[in-house]
Amino acid sequence: MKFELTILGSGSSVPTANRNSAAQVLNVLERYFLIDCAEATQHQLRRFHLPYNKISHIFISHLHGDHFFGLMGFLSTLSLQGRRGEMHIYADPRLQELVECQMRITRSRLGYPLCFHALSRQEEVIYEDKVVTVTAFPLKHRYEAPVCGFLFREKERERTIVKEQAEAWKVPIAFMQYLKQGADFITPTGEVVPNERLTVAPPPARSYAYMTDTLYRPCFADYVKGVDLLYHEATYQNKEIALAKETRHSTAGQAALLARTAGVGKLLLGHFSARYTDLTDLLAEARDVFSNTFLCSDGYRFELPALKRNV
Ligand SMILES: [Zn+2]
Repeated sequence: MKFELTILGSGSSVPTANRNSAAQVLNVLERYFLIDCAEATQHQLRRFHLPYNKISHIFISHLHGDHFFGLMGFLSTLSLQGRRGEMHIYADPRLQELVECQMRITRSRLGYPLCFHALSRQEEVIYEDKVVTVTAFPLKHRYEAPVCGFLFREKERERTIVKEQAEAWKVPIAFMQYLKQGADFITPTGEVVPNERLTVAPPPARSYAYMTDTLYRPCFADYVKGVDLLYHEATYQNKEIALAKETRHSTAGQAALLARTAGVGKLLLGHFSARYTDLTDLLAEARDVFSNTFLCSDGYRFELPALKRNV
């Protein structure tokens, strides 16, 4: 039942002794999704004891080095370790060219299939299975590197049948599926048994959104309305707002404004410029606008618990 995020890199384009560039892993019920893959991501996966062999889906936000320079090394290591299962990569279509070019020149072969999925410049579902959907949505960075955010949303689960009650009311086996979907039960004598007496609701579906390397645009809040957890870049503080605009990044204050507008549960800040050795002011600036804000560090883990619902 886990829904857990691990930050592998919380810095921006220049890695420091304490902060790697962008990468993180989201574990949704033992599905491990790698989001961005900066240099040394494979080292960070080992360092923080993540089962990297279980990663089968990699989402790359855009083609700047601090978000994908670790990809080739990671893919290569998996091959050397005997991986056979498919690896799916969701990215700007030019990433396929880049990877294939490196492999051609170095005469490398991977021992498993690579499946590329091109991100478009539209909001769209790019992955779906029984428990989760992943939606990509366009943000605004530099011309040469179109960027996407990603929204991971757990699917609503079915209601759980209370066995003793179902037996007491002699609910036929064939009707159980309808009970799980919320139907009331009508007995052969016409008595209506409300569904709530026969089942319990599943925990609310959880959600996580990743927004990095983007200018602040109030309308981007629409993509992430009400998500439980939002990671947003905060490369700069508000006092460097001109620089943020010039380099097409956001400030901590802007990230907090977006979180407040979107009504998210919790905000995580990352992608900090290497110029900051102390992030106290940056955090304070964000908390002034959105109090439930926290700073990411490498190795930071955050689990969204499955909350109980009573009805
Ligand atoms: Zn970046």
